Amino acid sequence: MNEELAEILFPNITKTPEEIEAMYPKRNLKEGAMVTRFGPSPTGFMHVGNLCGAFIDSVMAHQTGGIFYLRIEDTDSKREISGAKDLILNSLKHFHIDYDEGYGKDGEYGPYIQSMRAEIYQVFAKQLVKEGKAYPCFMSEEELAEIREGQELRKEMIGIYGTYAVDRDLSLEEVKKHLENKDSYVIRLKSPGDINKQVILHDCIKGDILLPENVIDEVILKKDGIPTYHFAHVVDDHLMQTTHVIRGDEWISSFPKHLQLFQLLGWKMPKYAHHAPLTKKEDGKIRKLSKRKDPEFSVRYYKEAGIPVEAVRLYLATLTNTNFEEWYLQNKDKKIEDFTFSYKKMPVGGTLFDMEKLNNICRTYFSRLTSLEIYEDCLSYNKEFDHSFYEIMQKNKDRLIGFLNIERNTKRPRKDIATYKDLKPESYYMIDEYFFENSAKSYKELPDRHFDWNLLLEYSKEYQESDSYEEWYERIKKFASNHGYASEVKLYKENPEAFSGHVGDICEMIRFAVTGRTKTPDLYQILSILGKNNLEKRVEFFSNYLKNL
Ligand code: GLU
Repeated sequence: MNEELAEILFPNITKTPEEIEAMYPKRNLKEGAMVTRFGPSPTGFMHVGNLCGAFIDSVMAHQTGGIFYLRIEDTDSKREISGAKDLILNSLKHFHIDYDEGYGKDGEYGPYIQSMRAEIYQVFAKQLVKEGKAYPCFMSEEELAEIREGQELRKEMIGIYGTYAVDRDLSLEEVKKHLENKDSYVIRLKSPGDINKQVILHDCIKGDILLPENVIDEVILKKDGIPTYHFAHVVDDHLMQTTHVIRGDEWISSFPKHLQLFQLLGWKMPKYAHHAPLTKKEDGKIRKLSKRKDPEFSVRYYKEAGIPVEAVRLYLATLTNTNFEEWYLQNKDKKIEDFTFSYKKMPVGGTLFDMEKLNNICRTYFSRLTSLEIYEDCLSYNKEFDHSFYEIMQKNKDRLIGFLNIERNTKRPRKDIATYKDLKPESYYMIDEYFFENSAKSYKELPDRHFDWNLLLEYSKEYQESDSYEEWYERIKKFASNHGYASEVKLYKENPEAFSGHVGDICEMIRFAVTGRTKTPDLYQILSILGKNNLEKRVEFFSNYLKNL
């Protein structure tokens, strides 16, 4: 009877499961190589959680010499948004998450888009019907809604199971009658589960988890013959030979259904690794990152914000393995690819996504680049996002590279740059076009201490471009004592009455007149980059500003 039922339900399905299996020959991979996949749904939004999942997929596969592939899970056509597939591809490309086969690329194990695999799923659904493991269910939406309401009211498990599964044992005649009436139907799994039994999920990240066995006759094919996620992923992960399903932990509760499907189909189950969602701390409370509240949840945010791709990747690595950050800080010359990730070091609970932390990673990342690299990366960012600064950057190339180079190759390199956007405000005073444009803006932080600003003009005349650092400092010291300032702070502290100030005050004056700031990187190097003429011009500019106050 089941055989006949299968033929009636799937008259057009002529391929056999064996024929489909033959289209997916065993992958030729070395022992221990992982096959992972990223299975996004094209719903128009790609968030850092997805990106993190894809990152884990890619590192786990690649570090074991395996395969990472991309599969578009578009069985829910109602939620599909046009352009979403491009967003997925572009996001992976932008963050250098390379996959070996899949949608948008070649591959022997496709098609890698579920909507093109309807026939394949139907072959296996037909097989399940044939074996008495699945059946057509003709219940109407109204009937289902009524059952659900009653279950909710009585606080029962929601779903079609036990006595609710009224179409489970329809006779062939009854099915035929429904079909003659053109009643629509879904294909449901005939669950052999026992509510009193439990199954174990050996989760690669979370360890063993006990779950109740599935008893629900889950829908495997919807009315239009398109599978549900549950069925599609089981068929695909089997045929495409996924060894590790890495997915969000919201799927843990569905695991018993998936286990049952693998068992009924007679297939070996891949290993499962469920990762925690990204969370955020707000007002002392922890909550999931949200599309509505957190712009940083969207992968689109990072590019515009000028956060380097590599820094985001470093952060993803930090989120992936709890021991990554320490390793990275200790290994200045190493790259992400040199690190060995493990499931054991993946966080088990919610993972805090902290922009402050990302910011610190960015600073460390920039501190390890050369000044030329920073210049070039900022240049290409500004070409897209700030064209006028892009042009200014080109005109001031040497000056900016010189500026970026100050205190760079030292034990504790500067960490003033966290994003491509930061170069403009950080280097503002090095750019004549900005600095001389508006003195009120350039000197807006005027210290409220008293300084003998009139000494500056004389200093600028005495300044020598050719001085080494030591000579330069000796000259300032001499200049200080010639004008009633202590040449050493110590001398001043011993007898403050005897001096107008000390050498540090002279430096502060120069620094302020030249940069409009009280804190900058090394003053000697700033002056060397600007040169004597520019120093004189700036001192004059400052004097005029003071006169007009
Ligand atoms: N299409 C599923 C989703 O977007 C993927 C889950 C999985 O990776 O198995 O949630």
